[in-house]
Amino acid sequence: MIKFDVIIAGAGIAGISSAEILARYGLRVLIFDINEKFCSFSSSQQHGWYHLGSLYSIFPESDYLKSMLVSLENLVKNYKCFDGMNATIDKNGKLNFKKKKNAWINNDRIKYLVASRNNKDFKINKIKNILKIIDWEKKIKKFVSRHKRYEKINWNKMKASDFVPKANLLDYRKKFIKKPDLEELTLDKNTHFMMEGYDRTMKSYLIANDLFDSFLKNKGKFLNKTKLLNLKKIENNFEIKTSKGKFLCKYFVNATGYNLKKDNAKNFKVKSVYSPIAVFYPPLSKKNFVRLTPKKNKTINHLLHKTEENVNYSVIGCGMDADKKNRKNVEKKLISLCKKNFKNYKKSNLMGIYSGLKTEYVKNKGERHYNFKIYEKAKNHYLIIPGKFSLCFSLASELKNKIIGKTKIKNNKFYKSKKNKIISYPLHYNLISKNI
Ligand SMILES: Cc1cc2nc3c(=O)[nH]c(=O)nc-3n(C[C@H](O)[C@H](O)[C@H](O)COP(=O)(O)OP(=O)(O)OC[C@H]3O[C@@H](n4cnc5c(N)ncnc54)[C@H](O)[C@@H]3O)c2cc1C
Repeated sequence: MIKFDVIIAGAGIAGISSAEILARYGLRVLIFDINEKFCSFSSSQQHGWYHLGSLYSIFPESDYLKSMLVSLENLVKNYKCFDGMNATIDKNGKLNFKKKKNAWINNDRIKYLVASRNNKDFKINKIKNILKIIDWEKKIKKFVSRHKRYEKINWNKMKASDFVPKANLLDYRKKFIKKPDLEELTLDKNTHFMMEGYDRTMKSYLIANDLFDSFLKNKGKFLNKTKLLNLKKIENNFEIKTSKGKFLCKYFVNATGYNLKKDNAKNFKVKSVYSPIAVFYPPLSKKNFVRLTPKKNKTINHLLHKTEENVNYSVIGCGMDADKKNRKNVEKKLISLCKKNFKNYKKSNLMGIYSGLKTEYVKNKGERHYNFKIYEKAKNHYLIIPGKFSLCFSLASELKNKIIGKTKIKNNKFYKSKKNKIISYPLHYNLISKNI
């Protein structure tokens, strides 16, 4: 039976990023997936939003904002060796995302259009609504304050993950918010304000492909169309039974996303919900934006993505989740939101709509966690879930620390990678490239 140091089941972004870093540090790693292509389930259904914490600045507690910033710090520290990793810090301590063809992260920032208290989403006819406004104003002030701190960071001198979440109302400045330019939208300019966020869009295909290419260059092995069947502990090793035979390993990592539900236990629980995504061409807007309102069913996110031939298209998500039964209904609601919000709706074509399956670790009472999770089910047996595609850098770095320890960073220059056919493009990309 072939023996590996580590076997990883599930080749979504959680599995690939973990396999990459462990192989880069010299371990013999096997990764396998039930599907023909890798990154072809949730990791291909995602919106392409690179979370740096901007959206999570609206939460009263700061843990999620902190974890998104830690992921950015891990990206800068542990992924310098990739040519596409374009986050750089200049001598003045400013963080930049260099423009280049193979860049992982686009430099265009996602703007926030925030509903203000005179918007019709707040109907002041009940005490409940007045309380809602007070709560919203408090959240928004903190949101603005945290963004102001983000702008002030000197990345050479301070840790963003410590500095930004500590923002308080003294950091708030009204001049930081602007009147929105809403020419492509039907929203009322007098009942919204605009703030430049710091999240960006990402080229998830390039991230997954480059990580996988590094994995191969570091002698990683892989199998597709291979199902995890079960595992057995044999002395200090695991015998992993798959549809393509048995393998031995010292460490076993389960990164099977939605299938982690089978491992739900008292201290580890994951939950899946459907989340709709609509794809339009030509694009409905030239800007990346999020409309924030306390009404979840009126929140809308518009991201611009590009094909390799530089054709722009719109990828639109919203604040609504669904279960298996009502997902078609929620997809219809997203279409009506698009119809209502975009002036160009009739000039564009709906190229496709789908409900992606989001699987996340949840807290005890079932609340969302918005962070990655590594759970050691038994000695050397890990269950991992990234929470977000963009948290894969923290997830992988942390798993490496657990398995190998906090050794010196191995970041040898690794030049341009070649395309690996086994890595799937995002679903929205496939919908466009097949149809235009
Ligand atoms: C609609 C939507 C929008 C999103 N938008 C964003 C976004 O904009 N930004 C962001 O950062 N994140 C986003 N996310 C979240 C992100 O997509 C996920 O957090 C991430 O992709 C999960 O990665 P994963 O590797 O855990 O899961 P997956 O990609 O699902 O990988 C799990 C893999 O395990 C394999 N598998 C399952 N069972 C078995 C088995 N028995 N044997 C072998 N293999 C098995 C599957 O085939 C799959 O390839 C979004 C998610 C959705 C659904």
